[in-house]
Formats: sequence, structure tokens, C-alpha cells
Amino acid sequence: MTTFLVDGETALDAGSLTDALPLAAQRRIRRVVLTHAHLDHVASLPFLIENLYGRDTPLEIVAPAPVIAALRRDIFNDSSWPDFSKLPSRRRPTVVYRSIAAGRSFAAGPARFTALPVDHVVPAYGYLVSNAGASVLFSGDTRPTTALWRHAARAPRLKAIFLEVSFSDSQAEVASASCHLTPRLVAAELRKAPPKVPVYLYHMKPPSLSRIRREIAALDEPRLHLLESERSFRF
Ligand SMILES: [Zn+2]
Ligand SMILES: [Zn+2]
Repeated sequence: MTTFLVDGETALDAGSLTDALPLAAQRRIRRVVLTHAHLDHVASLPFLIENLYGRDTPLEIVAPAPVIAALRRDIFNDSSWPDFSKLPSRRRPTVVYRSIAAGRSFAAGPARFTALPVDHVVPAYGYLVSNAGASVLFSGDTRPTTALWRHAARAPRLKAIFLEVSFSDSQAEVASASCHLTPRLVAAELRKAPPKVPVYLYHMKPPSLSRIRREIAALDEPRLHLLESERSFRF
């Protein structure tokens, strides 16, 4: 379940926002930027929206058009969950959708985000997040990829890379079929990444975690850090 709270008002993905944050903090969120529409990245969105119902400012759901289309078709379809873009009324909705173009930066509070296409089983995007002093890169879910690293090479003052690793090397076939990374593939991605920038690994599937831990340790690569639980970073 993936969620990053970038500052108090912008979340990147919403896998577990409502579990991770008390109600008051949820109500400070102004926008959720999405990497893709898989459930482990959007599962808490229906409940977040329910918790924000009646707030003056609508929640912005921000993503490239294919992600928003999937969300509207599969979740907020008046069958799985209500279409909150017309509730309580179309004039005063709880949710507004904002389609953004990949590769073009947009403002999200004090930060700027740029969606960068990655390679996954469904349309998916990493994000470069920048403020005046620093940039941070999030891969989202991906198999070995290229455009992300081209952008990373040009990112000003890149302070950290958050990179997915989902399965252990012993599950390379599953990883390949589901378009995810294993530690061996992470090592290859690392060679495409800008040098010296620390890499925080996340998205480990729980049954694979102990093997991934061992395989990452065996890589003996000091840049790699496994993000196993909630952590805060300041850039
Ligand atoms: Zn996914
Ligand atoms: Zn995922």
C-alpha cells in the first residue's frame, strides 16, 4: 500500500492515507497526485473522499488522462463507489479531476511535479517533485525503464530517488509478468541513475520482504536503503 505525503497538502498516491493519517490531517489534503490506478495505490481514496465530504474546497485528483479514466470507469462509477465529482452537487463537488500532460511540470502547492512515463502493466507514471532547493524522484510501479532516468539526469539538485522493488530474484518470472523490479533489476537500474544520489526502495510485497532484504544486502551497495515502515524526510 503506497502513499507519500509530500507536504501537508499534497499526497502522492493514496494506498493507505486514511490508515496513516488522523482525520484532521486528512482534511488538510488539497490534492492527491496518482502514479496509476492499481488498488494498492488508490485503495484509501474512496474513504478519504468520504471523510472530506462537505468541505468548502474540493479535493483535486491529479494524474495523466489514462489514470483518471481508469479511476472514473472502475471505482467512482456510481457502482463500486459514488461519483463524487457531482456530489453533493455538480456546482459544489467533493472531487475535481485534473488531467495533466506527462513531461510538463505543474504546480502543487509550493512544489512542482512532473509526471514521467514508466513501464507497468497499466498506464503508469513516476514523478519528479521539485521545490526551490531540491528535487526528489519517485518511480511508481515499473519494470526496467528509460525515460525516467533521462529526466533524472537533468534534474536540478536531485536529493533522493524512491524506487520500487516488489519481488525477490527468486520470483523473477512473476516480477516480469507483472512489470515490477527485483533486487537484481534494481542493481541494473542503479547504473542508469545519477551517481551518488541515495535510493530508497519501497513497494516490497510482504511475502517477499525477507528475501528482498537479504538480496539487497548481498548487493553491498551503500546507496540502497530499504524503506520498510513509515518514515519522514526533509529535503
Ligand atoms: Zn501497479
Ligand atoms: Zn503497486
